[in-house]
Amino acid sequence: MNTPPDFDLYQYDHRLSDEERALQVRVREWVDTRFLPRVPACWEAHDFPMDLVREMGELGCFGATIDGYGCPGLSSRAYGLVMRELERGDSGLRTMASVQGALAMNAVRFFGDERQCEHWLPPMARGEVLGCFGLTEPTHGSNPGGMLTTARRDGEGWILDGEKMWIGNADVSQMAVIWAKRDDLDGIDPTSPRAISGFIVPTDSEGFDATLIENKMSLRVARTSRISLREVRVGPEHLLAGADGLRGPLTCLDQARYGIAWGALGAAEACLAEALQHVAGREVFGRSLAAFQLVQDKLAGVLTRLVECTGTAYRLAELKDDGTATGEQISLAKYANVEMAQEAARTCRELLGGIGILDDHVSMRHMINLESVATYEGTRDIHRLVLGRWLTGVQAFQPKP
Ligand code: FAD
Repeated sequence: MNTPPDFDLYQYDHRLSDEERALQVRVREWVDTRFLPRVPACWEAHDFPMDLVREMGELGCFGATIDGYGCPGLSSRAYGLVMRELERGDSGLRTMASVQGALAMNAVRFFGDERQCEHWLPPMARGEVLGCFGLTEPTHGSNPGGMLTTARRDGEGWILDGEKMWIGNADVSQMAVIWAKRDDLDGIDPTSPRAISGFIVPTDSEGFDATLIENKMSLRVARTSRISLREVRVGPEHLLAGADGLRGPLTCLDQARYGIAWGALGAAEACLAEALQHVAGREVFGRSLAAFQLVQDKLAGVLTRLVECTGTAYRLAELKDDGTATGEQISLAKYANVEMAQEAARTCRELLGGIGILDDHVSMRHMINLESVATYEGTRDIHRLVLGRWLTGVQAFQPKP
């Protein structure tokens, strides 16, 4: 196993139980031996190694914090460790777990009834059934409340129409959680965010079509699609009845953002490990690269931000397990930890010199991937607007006309 150097200067990992340590090692070994050898070919082919999905289920990567229904029931901290190890491998790998678990499975767990949970969660936990989460639309990303997808009442059920964009795993999923605006809610304007409801849509439904987006320059070890819904009929058993307005999808997004805050640590650690190994072995101007002050300054800068962000992730895990974590706390951790990882990847790539642009080095791949991670689940702008609202009491998402 490729054991990374220990960057845990403040000894946060010393708090881990033996079970958590064992879980971390198990996932890290799997990433090193089963996943990483597949990355070059998958990167080239813009594909995910789909045959590994069941192994991810066996490892407990899917729906990891859900109790019951064949799910692991992990603490938030243990779940965070899993996300960190997956993203140490590749952001596309952590994305696979986030879309399946934090988004699709949590939508069923939070807002579905007992029958829906029994039906969908056990096979999804095993990786036998894949799910996706259709919120973003071609014209509404940062502002999902403006979505145009509709759910028109039709007898006992609904007819769905609309377009979804950038949907992870959609073309390989058996079920899609689709967010749409209903026209049958008493006293609610069918165009307002309060009309948003969630539906479990089997992807073999007539009128459902997912088309792979094939020209991504980032997150290439992940399948991302556009969804078209044309008069898709769903019965009452497909409604996620517990979801009420925009709060429904945002609750799932908070779970995924929390996982990203941990995953970003893994990406940064992979880059720092690579840079350290390189500077120790490389000679310039007759001396080891590691002996230059400018080089040590860069490495120390990466470590400093990494340690700060590790502290944020550990504290957020405690707040989540206490049930007191707020949206603002999650926003800060998501954007700041990803920004830290972006800076780390850029600096580490720079330290590699020319070979840093070759595809047998990881820093540039992480750097490119992190552009997607910084964009989805709320951009830096959106999370800073959340924090700005918290500080000032004034929402500035939508300028006054
Ligand atoms: P826009 O909303 O058009 O934003 C463009 C720019 O404007 C950004 O810089 C943004 O920060 C800025 N901006 C927007 N509003 C404001 C404002 N009020 N003030 C200042 N600046 C602002 N979505 C899903 O539903 N499911 C998925 O599985 C999924 N997976 C994804 C995978 C990938 C690889 C990518 C790239 C995206 C994915 N998304 C998914 C969509 C993602 O969440 C959106 O791309 C994201 O929310 C940004 O929306 P947008 O692309 O429409 O950009």
